[in-house]
Amino acid sequence: MSTEKAGEKSDDCLFCKIVAGEVPAEVVGQSDSAVAFKDIDPKAPVHVLVVPRRHHADVGALAGASPEVLADVVGLADQVASDLADGQYRLICNVGPKAGQTVFHAHAHVLAGTQLAGF
Ligand code: 5GP
Repeated sequence: MSTEKAGEKSDDCLFCKIVAGEVPAEVVGQSDSAVAFKDIDPKAPVHVLVVPRRHHADVGALAGASPEVLADVVGLADQVASDLADGQYRLICNVGPKAGQTVFHAHAHVLAGTQLAGF
């Protein structure tokens, strides 16, 4: 049984470990409440993950607990897209396994640097 609580560091969470510097990642931006780092398996020339420093299982949980931190995640995503590309980007948040979420620490994917297909 998990003893994890929202907002607390989870010892078995990959992104908590990246935020803590316990697992290496290529950090490309930071704020007081969020960290941006390159995805290990990029799906676009620029593929960055923006995560809150504190643990929440997904962006829905984050929105309920700390909407101001969710706004900061989006703001940092926008900043990174301007720093690494031309400021035009797609922001994707997978919530739940059916949507493709594989890491259960809230995060936003920033995809940029190319013409992305519409859907
Ligand atoms: P999700 O599928 O949960 O929306 O996104 C998780 C993302 O984390 C995937 O795009 C995957 O490539 C990325 N990822 C998985 N393990 C690592 C890792 O150890 N380091 C980094 N930088 N990204 C990772």
